[in-house]
Formats: sequence, C-alpha cells, structure tokens
Amino acid sequence: MEKARRYSKKREALIQALQASTEHPSAEMLYATVKEQFPDLSLGTVYRNLSQMRQDGTIISVATVAGQERYDANIDEHTHFICRNCHQVIDLFDVRLEDDHIAEAAEKYGHNIESQELILRGVCTDCRKAVN
Ligand SMILES: [Zn+2]
Repeated sequence: MEKARRYSKKREALIQALQASTEHPSAEMLYATVKEQFPDLSLGTVYRNLSQMRQDGTIISVATVAGQERYDANIDEHTHFICRNCHQVIDLFDVRLEDDHIAEAAEKYGHNIESQELILRGVCTDCRKAVN
C-alpha cells in the first residue's frame, strides 16, 4: 500500500515536471529534475511511468533527438521545431498543414486522415545568432 502511494506520488511529480517544462524533456532530463524531490527515484521508474502515461494518452512522445526520446504534456495538436545543432525542441503554434493539403493527401492515398503531427527541423534562432 505504502509502495503504491509513493509510486503514484512520483508519477504525479513527473507529470508536474513535464507540465512545467517547455523544453520537451527526455526521461533523463525529467529524472534529474524529479530526483531532487525523490532521492530514491530510479531511471527505470521514470521510463515505466512515461511509457504508461503515453499509453494512457496523458503525454505524447514528440521525437527521438540525439538518441533520446522527448516528451510533451501538451497533447493539443501543435507543431514542433527541432534544432539540429543544440537539439532544442520548440513549440510552433498555428503552424500546420492546411486542410486542402490534408484533403489532397486523403484523396491521393485513400486514407481517412484524422490528425497531424508536424515536425520541422533546422537551426534555431539561438544557434543562428551564435554563428553570425
Ligand atoms: Zn539550436
């Protein structure tokens, strides 16, 4: 019973850390944050909880960036930009495929398209400034 309660507290802390972050953290990044609050936290617990939350639809996996899966607690449809230099994952709101493009794709392939997850890649403004 006590174990189950601690488990759900950690899960709650993980969700809160993910919701508070705009960085689309990896399991490792979340582990580093939540471990301050729960010193006995293991990386395995973080992975298990993230996997469960994904299955529940509480969170989404955005992409694997530099070998690490990156997560988002904002499950409303929005676009992401990934910097190939610093590996930041950045939200882009109101950037999406137009309905007529979706309709075209549906027509061309015959699928019933219900949603989109758009990822744009390149070099972010921070990295562009650093280069120039
Ligand atoms: Zn960058």
